[in-house]
Amino acid sequence: MDTFVEHLLKRRAAPAAVVAVVCPFLLWGGLTPQWALAGLAAVVAWAGLWPTTSPADAPSATAPTVPLQKSAAPAAPVAMAGHGLPLSLLDALPDAALLLDSRGLIVTSNAAAQALSAVLIGRPHSHWVRAPELLDAVKTARETGEQQRCHVRLFTPVERSLAAIVSPIANEETSSRQLLVIVRDLTDQEQLSRLHADFVANASHELRTPLASIRGFVETLQGAAKEDPAAQARFLAIMQAQAERMSRLIEDLLSLSRIELREHVAPTTPVDLNGIAQDAIASLKQAAEKNDVTLIANIPHDQTLVIGDRDELAQVAQNLVQNAIKYGRKGGQVEVTLRRRDQQVELAVVDNGIGIAPEHLPRLTERFYRVSAKDSKERGGTGLGLAIVKHIVNRHRGELQISSVLGQGSTFTVAMPAATVVG
Ligand code: ADP
Repeated sequence: MDTFVEHLLKRRAAPAAVVAVVCPFLLWGGLTPQWALAGLAAVVAWAGLWPTTSPADAPSATAPTVPLQKSAAPAAPVAMAGHGLPLSLLDALPDAALLLDSRGLIVTSNAAAQALSAVLIGRPHSHWVRAPELLDAVKTARETGEQQRCHVRLFTPVERSLAAIVSPIANEETSSRQLLVIVRDLTDQEQLSRLHADFVANASHELRTPLASIRGFVETLQGAAKEDPAAQARFLAIMQAQAERMSRLIEDLLSLSRIELREHVAPTTPVDLNGIAQDAIASLKQAAEKNDVTLIANIPHDQTLVIGDRDELAQVAQNLVQNAIKYGRKGGQVEVTLRRRDQQVELAVVDNGIGIAPEHLPRLTERFYRVSAKDSKERGGTGLGLAIVKHIVNRHRGELQISSVLGQGSTFTVAMPAATVVG
């Protein structure tokens, strides 16, 4: 710690100088001792009280000195566009948003609003989305100062379903009232609900038909055919076929829902497609013979590995070969080829059967879509086989390609990334 003199010498240059002047006076008797002591006391008091530095930069005597720390970077200033709303706020909204002035003219908008329809800043909002419901909502919100909600259906350029909320907001900068219009596009959501409802309706219809048939035959067997063994045998065979059809439908519906549930989770284990393709061919040999179709297998001896789910891939091979047999030509052939092409593995099923007209090709993988429902039912189809194939292939990050010539035959090709074996 500094002595008082060091303190004076080091930090108090001015009082030290005074001491240096006073002391010789005292020693030489130029001052009376009383005056000299009074002067010395005044200098000491002054030296103790006089601040050495400005208060702003002197650390306080009591507070510990803390090393200067860099403060966190100051937040980027929020851009205000003169209308009182931070610009980034509108752009952060996922829905289309417009800010209108008190006359209903567009002050600003976000990218989602532009994407919905071209926005002309400074023009009436009706130039953006022209719908009577939205015009009314804006007018009422302006007049009443209360939030308004409405539903808007647009028909051009494509049909759209929109939900709008118009909220009056006070602009403190200009002390005027503005309107914030937020519009949510419900089109995809509604389409999804419609698809779901259609699917349930289709599935119920598909199940109801064989069920009605079975009930009809049960009544006949209990009544008119009670004493007719020949009719009974005929009806029982039909009932059995209908019951089998119902179980196939239920099986396919359950498969589809199981696959859909895990479609986003890619499989992780390597499986050999050779064995899977060969098993499918072996299990359908009888069906092919029954339909007078020759099965030809072009399957390499080496393993053909993909990362996949064995049961699901077996279902893909089974459904494609089964279809090729079902819709094949009597006396015709079905060729199953497994090959590696670059980093892909391809499973191609080629038939020379009835073929498919080009307008049907894009819809074949929709649930219950059939070129001919009668044909499909007669051949034991459910209308779900290709939908199942598509979902499984999606889960395996693969691709399903369909090419066909009406009256000549079809080729269904599944391409998937090949698995590389490490070690
Ligand atoms: P289905 O149970 O009716 O066969 P799929 O989903 O498997 O249902 O197939 C949908 C439709 O695609 C079939 O109804 C049929 O019209 C057509 N289709 C599928 N595979 C073939 C094929 N190899 N040749 C001709 N048409 C086919």
